[in-house]
Amino acid sequence: MAAENENASNFIKEIIKDDLSKGVHNGRIATRFPPEPNGHLHIGHAKSICLNFGLAEEFGGLCNLRFDDTNPTKEETKYVEAIMEDVRWLGYDWEDRLFFASDYFDQLYEFALKLVTDGKAYVDDLSADEIREYRGTLTEPGKNSPYRERSTEENLDLFERMRGGEFDDGSRVLRAKIDMAHPNMVMRDPTIYRIRRAHHHRTGDKWCIYPMYDFTHCLSDAIEGITHSICTLEFENNRALYDWFIENVNTEHKPHQYEFARLEFTHTVMSKRKLLQLVEDGIVAGWDDPRLPTISGIRRRGFPPEAMRTLTERVGVAKKRDTMVEYGFLEHAVREQLNATANRVMAVLNPLKLIIENYPHDKSETFEIVNNPEDESAGSRQVPFSREIFIERNDFMEEPPKKFFRLAPGREVRLRGAYLVTCETVVKDPDTGEVVELHCKYDPDSRGGDAPDGRKVKGTLHWVSVNHAIDAEIRLYDHLFARENMNDIPEGAEFTDFLNPESLVVLTGCKIEPSVATASAGERFQFLRHGYFCVDSRDSQPDNLVFNRTVSLRDSWAKANK
Ligand code: ATP
Ligand code: MG
Repeated sequence: MAAENENASNFIKEIIKDDLSKGVHNGRIATRFPPEPNGHLHIGHAKSICLNFGLAEEFGGLCNLRFDDTNPTKEETKYVEAIMEDVRWLGYDWEDRLFFASDYFDQLYEFALKLVTDGKAYVDDLSADEIREYRGTLTEPGKNSPYRERSTEENLDLFERMRGGEFDDGSRVLRAKIDMAHPNMVMRDPTIYRIRRAHHHRTGDKWCIYPMYDFTHCLSDAIEGITHSICTLEFENNRALYDWFIENVNTEHKPHQYEFARLEFTHTVMSKRKLLQLVEDGIVAGWDDPRLPTISGIRRRGFPPEAMRTLTERVGVAKKRDTMVEYGFLEHAVREQLNATANRVMAVLNPLKLIIENYPHDKSETFEIVNNPEDESAGSRQVPFSREIFIERNDFMEEPPKKFFRLAPGREVRLRGAYLVTCETVVKDPDTGEVVELHCKYDPDSRGGDAPDGRKVKGTLHWVSVNHAIDAEIRLYDHLFARENMNDIPEGAEFTDFLNPESLVVLTGCKIEPSVATASAGERFQFLRHGYFCVDSRDSQPDNLVFNRTVSLRDSWAKANK
């Protein structure tokens, strides 16, 4: 599965180094991230973003953000904005290089005219079905359209009238004149322009013909002076066409296309169609649901952007096969990052009241506790303590088994950073038998949590003072799908058949130490012994805090790969 070495191989880096050493492209490096604004970005796209911006950064080049918006019926401004926010969040800056393929429509039209003038493109009147039929198959050559030998004059006239809106949608197309018997089907006279009366999110109703993706993409790269045009493997066959357009339009810049393997993750889906279905059917709560692999989802979940960059670097860039990475490998990078940066606080998820009988009723005191043992500069905070505190319900057992070192009747434990307490009495609900309170005694000489006589106390519990506690809702997340590989679900099954019913568990009435009262949206913490959590950016209110669990402390990936 995932590569384990810190800097896995990246064949594109080798190509760039080689090009630089030979002075190809005059020693320039220019890349671009080219999303189509027809949906939200996911963590697969993040790889492409990190790769394109990262290579430019590393080799002193520039990376553009370019929206490939040639399909007006599917594209929307709201997606443009969401995509920009996601790229910025990942830590990349396109400065003044925000481009849209639609800004090049005039120039692309000129390029198409040049092909027509040069006898390298023609207007075809065949219907879409006929074009498909004429194309042939992988084993049979195609055949020429009866309109293929139109004169340049006729083609110019018809193409201009296509633009002028004289013809119905779908009645004619402009095609490149390449080779209907080409072994690569992509090269069998591909369509360059189609007639489509659709409102475009930027050009409005200016155009009724739109250029096809294959024509637009390479020529937009050339217009921008891109040197290394990096895309995913499904475009491997299209490279020949990419080169043909660059060659035959004879652009000043000659970009080159390189394909790399897609990044895929276990326990999730990344196809735009499936993500849309999950959102539209209300299976998740919107595009930024913290269980989704969207960038807005992982952001809301609390993943730091650095973790995504680290992961991309670790996985490397493969040439041949799509890379299926364990979701746990990403979580591992998240944990590493948060271990170094998140302040520790005490939170009780499932509270049980503990009353210290020999502690004065009206007294409270504070303990100074360090914020992050991994980072001295994070300082410390004062945590209030009083006679009644909450501990975790499962830190107490009335009849503890052998290996249970936490609280039990007659047993002494350490309340982290505070005092040693011994459980004296267990109070139960007379009807249900449920434990409702523990009555304890504390050792006043153990301030700070150390036994004055050096006696051994094994268990250390986190705690929150009842009078000072802040109430919170806590959302625990797990994999959205219970199945590991969602790419090969059995025939006849729906991908939604594999949803994990426990992907979201909501806990209410959790008790957290008061230092989090002023936490801002998105702020991250380690809740001691529980994991990393962040303030939910959508639902949390000052008087009604909501925390998302980003990751638990248990690192299944590190464990499995020891
Ligand atoms: P579609 O083209 O079906 O709408 P897409 O996921 O390819 O979906 P684009 O907006 O075209 O979406 O993608 C932008 C860029 O991100 C492209 O260069 C694409 O190759 C790259 N990309 C998309 N998915 C992945 C992935 N899983 N891993 C790496 N790169 C990806
Ligand atoms: Mg795509």
